[in-house]
Amino acid sequence: MSEAKSFDYLVVGAGFAGSVVAERLARVSNKRVLVVDRRSHIGGNAYDHHNDDGLLIHEYGPHIFHTNSQRVFDYLSQFTKWRPYEHRVLASVDGMLVPIPINRTTINALYGLELSSDDEVEAFYQSRAEPVERSTTSEDVVVGRVGRDLYEKFFRGYTRKQWGLDPSELDAQVTARVPARTNTDDRYFTDTYQAMPLHGYTAMFERMLDHPNIEIMRNTDHRDIEGLIPYDEMIFTGPIDEFFDHCYGTLPYRSLEFAHETLDTPEHQRVAVINHPNDKLYTRVTEFKHLTGQVHPKTAIVYEYPRAEGDPYYPIPRRECTELYAEYKLLADATPGVHFVGRLATYRYYNMDQVVAQSLTLFDKIRGVKAERESRVS
Ligand code: FAD
Ligand code: UDP
Repeated sequence: MSEAKSFDYLVVGAGFAGSVVAERLARVSNKRVLVVDRRSHIGGNAYDHHNDDGLLIHEYGPHIFHTNSQRVFDYLSQFTKWRPYEHRVLASVDGMLVPIPINRTTINALYGLELSSDDEVEAFYQSRAEPVERSTTSEDVVVGRVGRDLYEKFFRGYTRKQWGLDPSELDAQVTARVPARTNTDDRYFTDTYQAMPLHGYTAMFERMLDHPNIEIMRNTDHRDIEGLIPYDEMIFTGPIDEFFDHCYGTLPYRSLEFAHETLDTPEHQRVAVINHPNDKLYTRVTEFKHLTGQVHPKTAIVYEYPRAEGDPYYPIPRRECTELYAEYKLLADATPGVHFVGRLATYRYYNMDQVVAQSLTLFDKIRGVKAERESRVS
């Protein structure tokens, strides 16, 4: 690339946030866009690829697409066909494998009961729930709904392992992601759209970014090109505290270590994910073939070991962190020409579809502002 070449936008990060905004800017607004990512690939944490044995794996842990937003689903459908897939998870508790989210089957198996209606299960939960005035923490949410025994069996150990914090130290939204059900629905999600990109996430990202106005530089930190390649505005999707040289201190992100393995057997476990709330050092084991539908004589699995240090994967939903983020957000708002979007840059525990929605909204905003400016000039 010649140094003289200039771009309308520099997009930092080729994950969902960066790729959606880059795609819209190029295709809809005919802007020249440079996308840089410090990793060797596009797709961010949703990146998937075939391993040495030819099995399609998710490098950064299991990514299951689900959304209630028709807008998001229609948008992504321009770049991929889908494989219908409903996610199911079992938890290893008291020597048994039982459905999580907790449902009627879970309760009957764990307590040797034969509850047969929603009302009976609701009454069971209510008999054990410890009423809390306001569910402010991740402990309150669970204990207030199903009581302490189920909380300890399914949530306390898992959460302490995953976050290095007790549920009482985390905002309610963390464990509220996993409901307790009275019926026998054993799906992890109940969203309207639940599917996996037919040929994988990376193939979808390749199609999104395949446009003559988009150039991609992999293995490139945005600081590597600062002052070398001219651009008008930046879209930043990395950690916001890093952008500002941690001037207010480090904003904590939780990390994971992924231990991938290939096993010489066609199937390792009967569902895609098995959670380990109280045993093991890892939180969950994923077998990718369930997600991808791939037929292969071998199978690939991944163990997730939570870590304090390492790549930033999860913003930490608790007051101290949100307050520190708010300081960075003020700085971001006062930084002209840079737009912050995505899970790391807006410090939100967002799923993929929420990041897509947030990115489409940012694009609408940029386009609206630009259109207004241009109409004032003309
Ligand atoms: P990222 O995917 O993190 O992309 C940011 C990119 O920016 C990265 O590639 C990074 O290398 C690059 N970058 C950062 N700083 C710089 C810099 N200075 N210069 C150059 N490049 C930089 N969501 C779901 O909907 N369903 C799931 O099942 C699901 N499972 C998940 C499982 C795990 C283990 C994790 C960690 C997340 C999961 N998610 C899931 C969430 C999903 O990964 C995110 O919502 C989504 O990937 C966020 O996209 P993003 O573009 O905001 O960030
Ligand atoms: N969680 C738990 N036990 C489980 C599953 C989830 O305690 O078996 C809690 C835990 O704190 C976890 C949070 O609920 O971090 C959200 O779970 P989810 O499966 O949505 O996590 P993610 O897929 O984002 O890692």
